[in-house]
Amino acid sequence: MKPGTLYIVATPIGNLGDVSLRAIETLKQVTLIAAEDTRHSRVLLAHYGITTAVTSLFDHNENQVAPRLLQQLKAGNSLALISDAGTPTIHDPGYVLVNQARAEGIAVVPIPGACAAIAALCASGLPAYQFVFEGFLPAKATARRTRLEILRGESRTLVFYEAPHRLSATLQDLVACFGEQRSAVIARELTKLHESFYADKLGNLATQTGLDPYMEKGEIVILVQGQDPQTTAPAAFLEAKRITHIIKEALPLSQAIALAAEITRVNKNQLYRAFHETGEEI
Ligand code: SAM
Repeated sequence: MKPGTLYIVATPIGNLGDVSLRAIETLKQVTLIAAEDTRHSRVLLAHYGITTAVTSLFDHNENQVAPRLLQQLKAGNSLALISDAGTPTIHDPGYVLVNQARAEGIAVVPIPGACAAIAALCASGLPAYQFVFEGFLPAKATARRTRLEILRGESRTLVFYEAPHRLSATLQDLVACFGEQRSAVIARELTKLHESFYADKLGNLATQTGLDPYMEKGEIVILVQGQDPQTTAPAAFLEAKRITHIIKEALPLSQAIALAAEITRVNKNQLYRAFHETGEEI
């Protein structure tokens, strides 16, 4: 018996129009849809006339439900996984099922679409060639600050999901860790009626939370520009650039960068980016 396919189907993050034709077709054609919250997903399914049977798969039942769904897949039935909003498994349930399906040799096919992190990033005006998706920071202040300390030297754009009632405290911790002058963006209620972007220095955003009651409402993505590589460890970085310039007389620039980074122990990617930004051939 040929096994079925597990489709990972992205659904809207607010605006019901943000669903692909392929997603609708797939949801209509599969035998069963595994949804995070069946009542929540029925709104979307009804809107698009999708009458496929739905079962629930959420964080706390995934370990029990996954084996049953794998049996169905092995029996030749194709299934779709959806979450309450956006792309399943991206800070949502589904990892266990996808991991086990792959281990069993079952085809897993993504049907891409909305994802709040990507929607926020692409319109944020912050560098998006490289970024770090951190999901939710820990809710407890001590653990949150510890996590931010680990990220202190990160030069890629940082993307966080955050609950609105924690925005103010998180912004204060971001200021404490990254400084008030670091550029950041708060993307609220993406694709919805009250979508809004607040782009400013972290210090100003932290002050504004107390003054603007709308800022702490709805769904939120926080984006923080990475640390300027040149300020990470200026002396080591300048030394790395100097060594790179010497080595690149004899070797291609990419190899020169790798060697200089090794010698000076600066981050290779940061060094690479510094040369890339000045337009030198890599
Ligand atoms: N799987 C989803 C995705 O692809 O984006 C994320 C699910 S996660 C449990 C929910 C978090 O995503 C929210 O707390 C918020 O931080 C962010 N989020 C979801 N929808 C959003 C929206 N419309 N606007 C801003 N943030 C959103």
